[in-house]
Amino acid sequence: MSSQPSVKLIDGKAASARVLAEVRAEVQALRGDGIQPALAVVLVGSDPASQVYVRNKVLRAEETGIRSLEFKLPADTAEAELLALIERLNADAEVNGILVQLPLPAHIDENRVLQAIAPLKDVDGFHSENVGGLSQGREVLTPCTPSGCMRLLRDACGELRGKHAVVIGRSNIVGKPMAALLLQADCTVTVLHSRSRDLPALCRQADIVVAAVGKPRLIDASWLKPGAVVIDVGINRIDEDGRSKLVGDVDFDSALAQASAITPVPGGVGPMTIAYLMKNTLVAARLQRQAPRGARIPEDAACPSLS
Ligand code: NAD
Repeated sequence: MSSQPSVKLIDGKAASARVLAEVRAEVQALRGDGIQPALAVVLVGSDPASQVYVRNKVLRAEETGIRSLEFKLPADTAEAELLALIERLNADAEVNGILVQLPLPAHIDENRVLQAIAPLKDVDGFHSENVGGLSQGREVLTPCTPSGCMRLLRDACGELRGKHAVVIGRSNIVGKPMAALLLQADCTVTVLHSRSRDLPALCRQADIVVAAVGKPRLIDASWLKPGAVVIDVGINRIDEDGRSKLVGDVDFDSALAQASAITPVPGGVGPMTIAYLMKNTLVAARLQRQAPRGARIPEDAACPSLS
């Protein structure tokens, strides 16, 4: 298969290492002022995948010098008990970030729990105050995966202004905040979803394609215009050639024929998500320290080296 002459692999592992190094340096500077940012991670139940995610978050926090506090609650924890823990963490001035690992057991109202987290400690960026702030173009804590995608795009494309970005998927966690961040970066944004018509033709108009669907290899070269930059958020486990493997929403080998730059799966967006969780913890610590609640603080002012 012929590929674009200079198709660039967007290396999420290398980019996440850079973000983590920046966070580490900022944490060190804060520690010089006698402050150690702290992230509380709450896990309810013993879902194996969630346990791995939580472990990785805690390890990454330790690597960057962020203090991590782990709260493991049994699967039958009452919602009121979880809400009481969040209230305690909200009130604890030594805790800067609170992350409740999703999904929660069915008897707990996920939305009620996410809304209980203090917006300035909401390092996942899921609280409606942060969602609203993002939509209004205020600088607030934004969801980690789309924030990581933006960093990859800025590194790969430089100036994003005026580019046409197509986001495929409209979830609250990825698609919608991704579209909002691209809009904030002065892109022209089209959001495609399960009810959109003629997706390949719409997608072929895009300078930037962000795929967040959850369908293995849905997007192939026929969806891409020559030179498109492709960010593949999808993580899908499939069985192929007698073994289990992870693939994205983009047919990587096919897309190479059209894309100018593309993220692999694994090793693309995935590592950026956790790096931006650390960055958000740091931003949260700065916001809490420097701003009265709800005030607008430019992220660059909070973290000068973390633009
Ligand atoms: P979701 O299921 O909440 O949303 C999927 C979206 O895709 C929906 O908005 C739906 O309208 C759209 N969709 C479904 N079928 C479609 C189709 N045939 N054509 C066009 N759009 C369609 O999923 P999510 O939480 O947004 O996650 C999407 C993917 O990203 C998943 O594979 C998930 O595992 C992955 N993910 C990766 C990271 C990471 O860190 N890399 C983080 C979050 C999610």
